[in-house]
Order: sequence, then structure tokens, then C-alpha cells
Amino acid sequence: MTEELVKIRKDLSKKLKKERFEHTTGVMYTAASLAMCHGGDVEKALTAGLLHDCAKYCPAKEQIELCRKYGIRLTDSELAMPALIHAKLGAWLAEHQYRISDQAVLGAVTYHTTGRPGMTLLEKIIYIADYIEPNRRMIPGLDEVRSTSFHDIDRAVCLSAEHTVNYLRENGKSVDPMTVSTYEYYRK
Ligand code: FE
Ligand code: FE
Repeated sequence: MTEELVKIRKDLSKKLKKERFEHTTGVMYTAASLAMCHGGDVEKALTAGLLHDCAKYCPAKEQIELCRKYGIRLTDSELAMPALIHAKLGAWLAEHQYRISDQAVLGAVTYHTTGRPGMTLLEKIIYIADYIEPNRRMIPGLDEVRSTSFHDIDRAVCLSAEHTVNYLRENGKSVDPMTVSTYEYYRK
């Protein structure tokens, strides 16, 4: 790990709640493993994994206020589903507060919650690592996504998007249109 990443990790260990920081560390190393497995850039995977939830140090209401303050535009569905906002805000903080200029890393932070059709390898890696990291509580189908991730990452994206859509629908929650597009794109 570069000195830069060590510094960011130290900062996040102070800002994030213990459980969130444990999850962050899990995503970081899972992303690195997926990058090793699929021929991705390990350093970028570590960086994006470390920063993916960096905006979660404050509650959603405060995240919306920060977006206003920084001029980050939010879509109607993001305002309706504040759980999505930390991705966009996180990418902004990664760029302006943690001085990450790599667009590939910033994209991976931006799309880690909803995914998007036609993701880059790094985007898929962070999307999947967030879903399968070892601290995640067991949910039906998680074992399958975990093992699939290491041999067919597109199929793993499809499976996790499908589970996410089903879970949200079953629990009467609204589903971001981007999550649905991700599922439809990777189903083919
Ligand atoms: Fe997240
Ligand atoms: Fe996360």
C-alpha cells in the first residue's frame, strides 16, 4: 500500500464508525483479490475500495446538505432514496478532499451502489467487492455470488443486481432505475 493510501486509511479509521470501517477494509482487500484474479490494477482496486463509502461518516440528511454546499446535482430518485447519495458524494470527497484524480477510481466509487450498464472492470470489482466482502451478513445467494465472482465476474454482477432488485421489491422499497438497467444489461 502506498503512503497516500495509509494516510487515507488512518483518516477514515477516525471518521467512520467501527463497523463501517471494518466493512471498508473488507471491501478494499476483496477488491484487491478480485483485481489479482481478473488481471485488474490492484492499486486502483485498493484505492476505490478504501474510499467507496467515505461519505458515510455522516447521516443521509447531512449528506444531502453537503451535496447542496458542494454543488453536486442529485437526481429525483437519489433524493427519494437517500441511501444512494453517499456514492456521488463519496466520489466528490475522494477527488477534492483525498486528492484522487484517477477518473477510473472515481467512477468505481460513483457506481458502487447501483452499478451501470457497461461497467469497467474496476467498477465491477468494487460493485462486487461491496456485495461479497467477508463481513457481510449472510443473505440467500451470497455463497453463489462469492464463488462466481472469481471465475465469471459479469455473471456475478448479474446475480447480485438481481438479488438487490428482488430484495428491494420484496421489502416494498423503491428501486433506482439504474439498478434495474444494470440487471437488465448483465442478464444478457
Ligand atoms: Fe456504499
Ligand atoms: Fe459499502
